[in-house]
Amino acid sequence: MAKKRLACRECHFVNEPDSQTCEKCGSSSLTEDWAGYVAIPHPEQSEIATEMKVTEPGSYALKVR
Ligand SMILES: [Zn+2]
Repeated sequence: MAKKRLACRECHFVNEPDSQTCEKCGSSSLTEDWAGYVAIPHPEQSEIATEMKVTEPGSYALKVR
């Protein structure tokens, strides 16, 4: 079974399974406990991105616990 990727609690960016820190913001607060995968290629045109305060393109978790 594939390892679960890790979502950042700070910025919701989805990182590779073995990441120690968030690729996007550098936080070490990563969790396997997340739901809802969303790719945001154009944050400036996306309501979800605005709501999540996402400013850079990438893949994010909708819900992080
Ligand atoms: Zn982050």
